[in-house]
Amino acid sequence: MSVPIRVAVIGAGGRMGKEVIKLVLEDQELELVAAVDRSAGEVDVASLVGLPASGVIVTSDIEFAFVEHKPDVMVDFTTPQSAYMNTLIAIKHGVRPVIGTTGFTPEEIKELDKLCQEKEIGGLIAPNFSIGAILMMKFAAQASKYFPHVEIIESHGDQKLDAPSGTAIKTAEMIVENRNELRQGNPEEKETIEGARGGYYNGFRIHSVRLPGIFAQQEVILAGFGQSLKIRHDSYERAAYMPGVKVGIQKVMEYTGLVYGFEQFID
Ligand code: NAD
Repeated sequence: MSVPIRVAVIGAGGRMGKEVIKLVLEDQELELVAAVDRSAGEVDVASLVGLPASGVIVTSDIEFAFVEHKPDVMVDFTTPQSAYMNTLIAIKHGVRPVIGTTGFTPEEIKELDKLCQEKEIGGLIAPNFSIGAILMMKFAAQASKYFPHVEIIESHGDQKLDAPSGTAIKTAEMIVENRNELRQGNPEEKETIEGARGGYYNGFRIHSVRLPGIFAQQEVILAGFGQSLKIRHDSYERAAYMPGVKVGIQKVMEYTGLVYGFEQFID
């Protein structure tokens, strides 16, 4: 068997981070060498996920984790405020970033790509690691070529920090690449309540619903005269993302530069 890939998980105490810890501890092709979290405390990380002691103690010092344990790959599920800095630190240490955290700007993505190229390492920013969600985005983008009138409605839990979701932004970008430019709706339209028509993106609208109890859903509605096509994806639990995270960890070992979007790995 080949040598396992050495993985550091940042945000190890968070909801997504804990799923990644389970994945890495239970997969023989991966080795957990470091776990970083700013609020989980100095505990054996396995205790956070109900597994036998792993010997990996959670630290809040990301530089220390990289220098001391020399991971091949960092998986980051933290916050939009932290993830950019974490990624800069990882690249500086030659650690390949696999980023699930959403909220990166196009300028940040460009800069991180440049830095990965300079260091000759691979990197991945994937706003959505779920295969079903990637297919939903691809189908919506494909359909927008024939149905250029489109709106996106995404729904998440009420504690989500960024809006619209990274998945909605990525879907919108893919739609723009496929459909002919079009400013939808009535040019005379006026909102009597601010925001009623959602966020404006390149001629169409994105709506963000935030309610307790919802995990992650997105519906793309495409319409033409006398018909509509609705493409919808629902995620019910975080385990849905883990097969994609593993593929990401393996893929970044194979290329140079930063890939933005997991769909690049799906035909
Ligand atoms: P969470 O709040 O449960 O966990 C975040 C964790 O990160 C916390 O434990 C916090 O202590 C830690 N943290 C924050 N800043 C840190 C730093 N600088 N250093 C170390 N630890 C730090 O959040 P979550 O629900 O796990 O979501 C995390 C991110 O993942 C969000 O941006 C969310 O939108 C995104 N997400 C992405 C996907 C995907 O498929 N790409 C799927 C679900 C969620």
